[in-house]
Amino acid sequence: MPDNLFRFADKFGPLKIIHVHEPSINLKAVLVIDNVAKGPSIGGVRMALDVSTEECFRLARAMTMKNAAAGLPHGGGKVVVYGDAKMPKQQKSLLLRGLASALRNEDSYIFAPDMGTDEECMAWIRDEIGRVVALPRELGGIPLDEIGATGWGLSHATDVAASHCNFELEGARLVIQGFGAVGKNTARFLAKKGAVLVAASDSRGMIKNHSGLNVNELIQLKLQGKSVADYPDGERFEREAIIGVECDIWIPAARPDVINIDNVGHLRTKLIVQGANIPITHEAEAMLSKQGILYVPDFIANAGGVICAAMEYHGANESAALATITEKVKRNTELVLTRAKEKNIEPRQAAIEMATERVQKAMSFRRFSTFSMGPKFI
Ligand code: NAD
Repeated sequence: MPDNLFRFADKFGPLKIIHVHEPSINLKAVLVIDNVAKGPSIGGVRMALDVSTEECFRLARAMTMKNAAAGLPHGGGKVVVYGDAKMPKQQKSLLLRGLASALRNEDSYIFAPDMGTDEECMAWIRDEIGRVVALPRELGGIPLDEIGATGWGLSHATDVAASHCNFELEGARLVIQGFGAVGKNTARFLAKKGAVLVAASDSRGMIKNHSGLNVNELIQLKLQGKSVADYPDGERFEREAIIGVECDIWIPAARPDVINIDNVGHLRTKLIVQGANIPITHEAEAMLSKQGILYVPDFIANAGGVICAAMEYHGANESAALATITEKVKRNTELVLTRAKEKNIEPRQAAIEMATERVQKAMSFRRFSTFSMGPKFI
């Protein structure tokens, strides 16, 4: 028995691990299709020099749980491609076209973008084989970062969670770490609901003003290639100082592991809604309830992007996608926070339990639990 080959195997999957190799274009890639009991898998193509099969499996499993938690009829999958994402465009196009051709018949995997790939890459894949989400608008895609799909979902998760913390969004003090696609759109939508942005940061610094920052002016600064710290009407600090700013809602929308055991005690907020993936280490997350801070876990709060992508795949337009994000993110946030309270468990544990139950239920309808989808699967 080749044990090593099955080192990731457990009751959920993975269904398949495919190594793709085409020497003529120096293509080396791995596809992991984890669990497709809920439907064909969706997950991004990550291109980087340091990717591995192990990472690919972990990301595919995360997508199984994320798609299930989001209530989508999709399982989890992922592709990693070995290469420098900044390679010349022609070479990148050839590599991704080769990848798509090699996986032409793997119809239980739908391509999507991740680190190192974007909507143009998805257009190349569409040209080769179809079966892809997050296309440019010209090809019928819904540009999820441009419309702020993830920020839209985060604003609704925040709305639901605020009622669990007994405060109103109107007048609530908001802090955003990371003013990119997710952060700036979350700020925009929450400001419309009456929240007051008191601090924002990016990789170059932080700006703070207790009377409130103008979100549109900050967005304009970023569009001009400047930092939020260049905003004239506020106090300027180092970017890390954002962790200690007193507020009602603190939204991480930058990098993984920004809150850890060394700085978790500096937080002075009532609520954290996780925009970034894994912004808080597990040890630090476990400290939050002791500090009286409620949080909404990443894969519940930031599911707007993947919901938007799945809606695009099923032919929806932008307004239908946004309506579905509202409905699903609100419902799932409420379910998770209520379950956490009733069972006296961490919100993350409640979210994992909910996602796991959904995958298991879907598996119970299948003849071969993880797959058996029939020829007319998608
Ligand atoms: P982005 O590149 O558009 O923006 C990231 C922002 O964070 C930039 O403004 C950058 O300057 C800032 N930043 C980087 N390091 C920082 C630091 N140490 N402190 C403060 N700011 C810092 O990326 P994005 O698409 O907005 O994604 C942000 C996070 O959300 C990532 O973790 C991503 O994986 C996650 N996420 C994104 C989406 C999506 O739809 N884009 C969906 C789910 C999760």
